Amino acid sequence: MLSPSELARRRREVVAALTRAVPPHCVLARDEDTRPYECDGLSAYRQLPLVVVLPENEEQVVAIMAVCLALRVPLVPRGAGTGLAGGARPVADGIVLSTARLNRIVHLDPAARTAVVQPGVRNLAISDAAAPHGLYYAPDPSSQIACTIGGNVAENSGGVHCLKYGLTVHNVLRARVVTVDGQVLELGSEAPDVPGLDLLAVFIGSEGMLGIVTEVTVRLVPKPAVARVAMASFDDVVRGGGAVASVIAAGIIPAGLEMMDRTSIGMVEPFVRAGYDLEAAAILLCESDGSAEEVDEEIERMSAVLCAAGATAITVSATEAERLRLWSGRKNAFPAAGRISPDYYCMDGTIPRRELGRVLIGITEMAQRFGLRCANVFHAGDGNLHPLILFDANQPGEFERAEAFGAAILELCVAVGGTITGEHGVGVEKINSMCVQFSRAELDAFLSVKRAFDPEHLLNPDKVIPTLVRCAEYGKMHVRPGQQKFADLPRF
Ligand SMILES: Cc1cc2nc3c(=O)[nH]c(=O)nc-3n(C[C@H](O)[C@H](O)[C@H](O)COP(=O)(O)OP(=O)(O)OC[C@H]3O[C@@H](n4cnc5c(N)ncnc54)[C@H](O)[C@@H]3O)c2cc1C
Repeated sequence: MLSPSELARRRREVVAALTRAVPPHCVLARDEDTRPYECDGLSAYRQLPLVVVLPENEEQVVAIMAVCLALRVPLVPRGAGTGLAGGARPVADGIVLSTARLNRIVHLDPAARTAVVQPGVRNLAISDAAAPHGLYYAPDPSSQIACTIGGNVAENSGGVHCLKYGLTVHNVLRARVVTVDGQVLELGSEAPDVPGLDLLAVFIGSEGMLGIVTEVTVRLVPKPAVARVAMASFDDVVRGGGAVASVIAAGIIPAGLEMMDRTSIGMVEPFVRAGYDLEAAAILLCESDGSAEEVDEEIERMSAVLCAAGATAITVSATEAERLRLWSGRKNAFPAAGRISPDYYCMDGTIPRRELGRVLIGITEMAQRFGLRCANVFHAGDGNLHPLILFDANQPGEFERAEAFGAAILELCVAVGGTITGEHGVGVEKINSMCVQFSRAELDAFLSVKRAFDPEHLLNPDKVIPTLVRCAEYGKMHVRPGQQKFADLPRF
């Protein structure tokens, strides 16, 4: 770690080099200017960066990378900073590269149903621009009003509509990226397939560790003529979880299939008055879209499956206003948490759908064990959980308990055959849990990919992929049956 005087000297050196690479107004170095960049949505982890730079075009990104490489200064890319895993958290002796000024929709082609956009374009802005052509961009994170397409690509973001329409990786055709040595790569294409290794898929979800995304071509899809949502109440979360598996097993792929438990319903309903059933132990929101006939037929089939799975009541939206009202509760769940708890910690794990009930019961037991409340509101159709652990950071020890509770949930996800993240990424938050999920050989393979693009580990360093030493210190290592944990490490 550098001393304050060494940091100040380093800052002067980096600012001098950056202002030769980009216009001076693109460089922020005073604490009051860099403070807004000290954290992302995981605000418990904060760090002031050395410098923030806001390039205005791709050539400037290339020039910034040259500075980064020449001075061996780490660099953290940043979109809107809505990430929930600390992926955009700065490093003390590093640059934050913000894409806020790379925010142009370059080209929209309604005939080809594609849009070419810069990385700082907001997710919702793409759909707004496509709306006059009857098109939209399907992946819809709940943060879509603010989050950027560059951040979505880096996190492989999902949303309510991803069950039917796919994640970011299924809706991005091509990306331009700048590597740390200043090369501009074109990955993917607008054709159905490209020859060679699928490096676009490698970049999508790489959390800013391999290069800077400077342009993205996304697929647009036609807006469905009609959409309706069915809300089903359950008097038991296990039955609600079972209903999710039954819907998919019946061959229905809803346009959205979300679940909220009693704590979530109770926190959201007084906030948005969505019309949720306050008596229910859980509700499911099950959306159908398509032509009017298709939707009528699918809603009927869904309702039959939900009833057979034990639903105690079903409400189907009759108008678009009613549909939006029913969704408003789900979409506002995170802000609603702020009304009943000073702080919340949003976890993100994925499990096989058939395990939903068992895992929800496990989380309830853990809430008692850790002495903290937990609200569950999540993409049930994808098996993607979002337990919101409620705590008060001003109470000594509560944050540490919330972190331990979160880690225990992720271990449960792995134990039932799931994963430690669904869509929020690993960042700094889940780096230890990577030791639980992956073997040494798998982590080594990840590190080899990182080294191939960034041999000096300058891009978003010390995130996502844990070192072997970190896993040993964490004491939670992936073990294959009958094998000793890291047999070659000295034992203490
Ligand atoms: C209320 C709320 C609801 C949310 N709901 C969802 C949801 O439903 N689904 C979901 O998937 N996520 C959700 N998120 C998480 C978050 O919004 C997404 O991860 C989003 O994609 C982050 O975008 P961003 O522009 O804010 O990126 P940032 O937070 O700024 O960065 C995220 C990561 O991407 C990297 N990065 C950013 N831009 C680039 C670039 N141009 N090139 C390379 N790397 C880059 C950063 O280094 C960082 O690692 C939610 C967050 C909040 C606060």
